Amino acid sequence: MPVSMTLRELYDRIREVLPEVDARYVLNKRAGVTAADLIVAPDSGVPEGAVGLVMRDLERFQTGEPLSRIYEERAFWGMDFVLSPATLDPRIDTEVLIEAVLQRFKDRSPLRILDLGTGSGCILVTLLSLFPQAYGVGVDLSPAALQIARSNAQRHGVDARAGFVCADWGGALEGLFDLVVSNPPYIESDVILDLDENVRKFDPILALDGGQDGLQAYKRIFSDLNRLLDEGGFCFLEIGFDQEEKLTRLIKESRFLLKSVHADSAGHPRVVEIFSAK
Ligand code: GLN
Repeated sequence: MPVSMTLRELYDRIREVLPEVDARYVLNKRAGVTAADLIVAPDSGVPEGAVGLVMRDLERFQTGEPLSRIYEERAFWGMDFVLSPATLDPRIDTEVLIEAVLQRFKDRSPLRILDLGTGSGCILVTLLSLFPQAYGVGVDLSPAALQIARSNAQRHGVDARAGFVCADWGGALEGLFDLVVSNPPYIESDVILDLDENVRKFDPILALDGGQDGLQAYKRIFSDLNRLLDEGGFCFLEIGFDQEEKLTRLIKESRFLLKSVHADSAGHPRVVEIFSAK
């Protein structure tokens, strides 16, 4: 096998572009090298093929593509999730939703969970792992996203308790749920062009665009929520950092009650917790 660089040389080359943790991640992905190999055998040769792949990855990274898109995976709640161009890249902010659910359901487990706009399935799969007695339904308009959500459910061993439905929000669903969750698209259409390149170019527009007022998806969710949320159930929705006031108004107009607003680590309102007055 032709060798063109030592491990150390390749690592140093990657370090010119990436911080330590990411550099080790890239080496592991493309050359199967661990942090221990790097210490024990820094002078061993790396096959030319692997070097070529790493160089191509660095070029992609330098033109603005996030590593999570290059390797099509992202950690969420400490679990590895597969991604595709059809899914949003899970954000750490969304872990606030998981924390909020855990707080609410610390004494009893939700048994029926509904995730509207499931994308990679990261929210539903995480919740099903945390609540081993629960069953869940993940809904998405994108069949390609649902394929990824299904494979993430399998990967984390919750697929026997998860069903995936291709549908436009909750309209086609029947049944009652104890817990409804969603990270819907909430960015105002006009703002999308101003987003960071790595969001605008690599996250699917379907997962971002909340219409002119950013509220279209919430309105769709609220139109079915009363029918789908069981008595005593709760709904947790991610919101944009500046949407608390708008959402509070919409929740009231839609005749739901706001239980709580949960902040992210930057102190921005990030998740609204809702229940129904029925
Ligand atoms: N949180 C994402 C962002 O800031 C948007 C995701 C969404 O619209 N749900 O880019």
